[in-house]
Amino acid sequence: MDGCTSCDGRCCARYHVTLTHSEVRRITHCGHDPLEYLAWLPVGSVKTNHPDIRLGTTYHYMALKRHADGRCVFAQVVDAGLRCSIHGIHPNSCSMYPMDPHRAMMRLRPICAVEWTFDKSKEQLNIEDMRARMEYSEIAQMWNSRKRKKRSARDFLKFAGIVDMG
Ligand code: SF4
Ligand code: SF4
Repeated sequence: MDGCTSCDGRCCARYHVTLTHSEVRRITHCGHDPLEYLAWLPVGSVKTNHPDIRLGTTYHYMALKRHADGRCVFAQVVDAGLRCSIHGIHPNSCSMYPMDPHRAMMRLRPICAVEWTFDKSKEQLNIEDMRARMEYSEIAQMWNSRKRKKRSARDFLKFAGIVDMG
């Protein structure tokens, strides 16, 4: 476990983290079960430009689950603060915070005291993230326009190549 230690992990207790297929694939391939760590947030419940995914008859954003106290499912309590247990593979918006790459803007009134700089690694990450979001948007469009009745979260994860087709 590693990551920012400049405060007690306020960002990990505050925000919904919406995800692309690419981020879910990365986390899943490191041994985490997406059916355990994903939340499917109803459209309109968070501000994001992420594509929505049709499950049954309703539309949702794919996001990280949160505990009842607001803490991200991957935030662990260490020395009375929160630390990320998937640092190194965590979502791009966690690396970019307090910039919100999904809305290409800085979060207003950020709770973070660390000075933000747009360096080469963030620039590269932002480019990769934009590509992933375009690809995810195409996947979402294809999925949402399918006429088949099977529309569970697991079906979508198979369709998006996140879990095995077996
Ligand atoms: S994935 Fe890690 S860095 Fe991102 S919100 Fe969760 S605990 Fe925090
Ligand atoms: S990124 Fe900012 S809010 Fe998040 S743990 Fe570090 S100092 Fe705290």
